[in-house]
Amino acid sequence: MPSAQAKVRKPTAAAKTAKARKNGYDPLAPGRIKTILQRLDQTYPGVTCALKHKNAWELLVATILSAQCTDVRVNMVTPELFRKYPTPAHFAALKPEQLEPDIRSTGFFRNKSKSIVGAAKTIMQDFGGQVPDEMDKLLTVPGAARKTANVVLGSWFKKAVGVVVDTHVHRISRRLELTRNDDPKTIEQDLMKVLPQEKWIGFSHQIIHHGRALCVARKPKCAECPLENICHAADKTWSTVEIHKAAKP
Ligand code: SF4
Repeated sequence: MPSAQAKVRKPTAAAKTAKARKNGYDPLAPGRIKTILQRLDQTYPGVTCALKHKNAWELLVATILSAQCTDVRVNMVTPELFRKYPTPAHFAALKPEQLEPDIRSTGFFRNKSKSIVGAAKTIMQDFGGQVPDEMDKLLTVPGAARKTANVVLGSWFKKAVGVVVDTHVHRISRRLELTRNDDPKTIEQDLMKVLPQEKWIGFSHQIIHHGRALCVARKPKCAECPLENICHAADKTWSTVEIHKAAKP
C-alpha cells in the first residue's frame, strides 16, 4: 500500500506532449512545422554557411575555430592562416605550439591548435589528405564531433546526414517547442524526426541567421519576428498568443 508520502512522479516529456496534443495543441503538428519552414524560407532565402572556405579542409578548420567564437572573428583569421599553410600537409607538419599564435584571437587556442594539427595528421595518415565525406569516418578526426561533422557534410558535401545543433539551433528549437530536450544529440534526433530530410541542411542555416538577427538569446525581437503568432516561448518579449511555460531555452 502506498504511503501518504509516496513520491508523486513528474510527467515525462512524452507524457506532456501527449497531454498537449489531447488538449488540441500539438507543437509538432505537420501543418505547424510546414508553416515554420515556409516562413523561414521567405525570411531567409538562400542563406548558407557564414564561415569563409574554399574546400572541405578549410571548412573543417574554420568550424573548429568557431567554437566559442564569432564567425566574423574566424573569417578575420582564416585568410592569412590558409595563405601561410595552404594544405592539410602543411598543418600536419606543425607542432601545435607553432600554430597557436596564428589562431590566438579566436580563443581556446591551445585546444584548437591541438585539434587542428591532430585533424591534419589523421587526414594525411588515414584518408590520403582528403577530408572524408562519411559521418563515421569524420568522427575519427580530432576536433570533429557530430556538430562539426554535420557542418562539413552539409555545407561542403551537400549530404543531409543530420542537423547541425549549435547554440542558436538549441535555443530556438526549444522556444519553438520542436524539442523539450537539452542535450544537442537528442535535440538533433528530435529535429530529424519532425523535419523533412531535404530541409535538414537549410533549416540550421536559417535558424542560425534567425538567432543572430531576431531570436537572440536575451530579449528576442518578437515584435519583428515572422514566427510570432505561432511561437509560445516563455521568454517572449511581446506576444499575441498564449505563453507556454515549458517553452524556454
Ligand atoms: S517570437 Fe520571439 S521567441 Fe519566438 S521565434 Fe520569434 S523572436 Fe524567437
